[in-house]
Amino acid sequence: GEIATMMDVPITKVIGTCMSLGIMVTMNQRLDAETLSIVADEFGYEVEFITSDIEDAIEVVEDKEEDLVHRAPIVTVMGHVDHGKTSLLDYIRKANVIAGESGGITQHIGAYGVTLENGQKIAFLDTPGHEAFTAMRARGAQLTDIAIIVIAADDDIMPQTKEAISHAQAAGVPMIFAINKVDKPNANPEKIKERLAGMNLLVEDWGGKIQSHDISAKMGIGVKELLEKVLLEAELLDLKANPNKPAVGTVVEAFLDKGKGYISTVLVQAGTVKIGDYVLAGKNHGKVKAMHDERGNIIKEAGPSTPVSILGLDGAPTAGDKFNVFADEREAKQIAAKRSQLMREQSVRTQKHITLAEIGRRIALGQFKELNIILKGDVDGSVEALSDSFSKLSTEEIQIKIIHKGVGAITESDVLLASASDAIIIGFNVRPAGNAKQLADKEEIDIKTYSIIYDAIDDLKDAMEGMLSPEL
Ligand code: GDP
Repeated sequence: GEIATMMDVPITKVIGTCMSLGIMVTMNQRLDAETLSIVADEFGYEVEFITSDIEDAIEVVEDKEEDLVHRAPIVTVMGHVDHGKTSLLDYIRKANVIAGESGGITQHIGAYGVTLENGQKIAFLDTPGHEAFTAMRARGAQLTDIAIIVIAADDDIMPQTKEAISHAQAAGVPMIFAINKVDKPNANPEKIKERLAGMNLLVEDWGGKIQSHDISAKMGIGVKELLEKVLLEAELLDLKANPNKPAVGTVVEAFLDKGKGYISTVLVQAGTVKIGDYVLAGKNHGKVKAMHDERGNIIKEAGPSTPVSILGLDGAPTAGDKFNVFADEREAKQIAAKRSQLMREQSVRTQKHITLAEIGRRIALGQFKELNIILKGDVDGSVEALSDSFSKLSTEEIQIKIIHKGVGAITESDVLLASASDAIIIGFNVRPAGNAKQLADKEEIDIKTYSIIYDAIDDLKDAMEGMLSPEL
């Protein structure tokens, strides 16, 4: 409908053109970029995509190999509730594994850095849990280098442990297991490792490649060794960045301080941010007036993998927003204004995610190679049976990937993962719980629920063959 109006042609003609391309549409349907271009071309128009235009204006400086230096890993702590994520982060924050640093970390700025005795550094994101991790990813921010998955040794692999593992895997972030609470008399770390092995996650003790360490976050046992393993993993990842260029990074959190103004914490990923720099963060901009670290110290510049709280933006950007330094204020201002305008325009129409009904068409267009599915069911047996059957539907053209499966209702965390990974959610004898349905509507995530296994399999099969008629 919208594009017909823009081109001043009858809607029926646009629908007709789509049909001739093998795409069944209604007047309210949104078209993807590729289809839009083809349809516009049919009527002698050319489509210009302003979103990418804006992002193109941000100059990406290609780094030369010799300019790259090692940077500290950025770590997120995830795991089931009460397994000890906060305790671990607190211990690391307070403990004197930290050498030569005066004063403990006093401010909560959303991230903090520590220096180990050997001088090596690690940056931690201070909001534990896979929800924050995946919410950032849904905004396009890939900030975490390594995920520590905390599992309580007096408990078991719990639903959120599984979720955390799936979320890290979907993001392609390497994991290290911290098997916690080993000070407890009923702790059984071996059982946890055995359970992990049962999930095809072999830790080193079990002949696998995944690092794990037994710890007590409460007593501080094994934490130092855990951090050494983080550094080992980082070495394998060979993390590097060029510190000598205008900074780029990601916003970790931001708020309004009544006395000082807007304070935003960013994690610098490359380059260096300095006092006086003109910065752009999401739809906000400004000149860096002051900078502080997590110890409340005033700092003048911050390089790669350094968390820093910045004073001077004209608003509070959202966690996950990109952060860029510009040579002149005008440019930062212009892009911020364009982004605000785009956001206003797009607030009525959010980004469209894949739906079951659309799979066939995307396959036919030839660029859709992988279908991500999140599978939830009422019992383990049916989840496994469905997961097996779905995987077997993979063809040469399209790979079916179960990025997360589990027993229980469809949660907000499932919807966030679907949004970050462009997945559809399939529920077997389960429904969305809490605010999952509302969130799915907002994020336009397709949730399909079934109570007969064969219906689910048939639907997916039909969808892949483009046989499923779009819902009108
Ligand atoms: P989170 O929900 O994963 O952040 O878990 P918390 O860090 O809040 O820990 C939950 C509970 O477990 C708290 O009462 C902690 O004191 C306790 N806890 C955490 N780590 C340990 C540990 O290593 N040993 C013991 N005995 N208790 C722990």
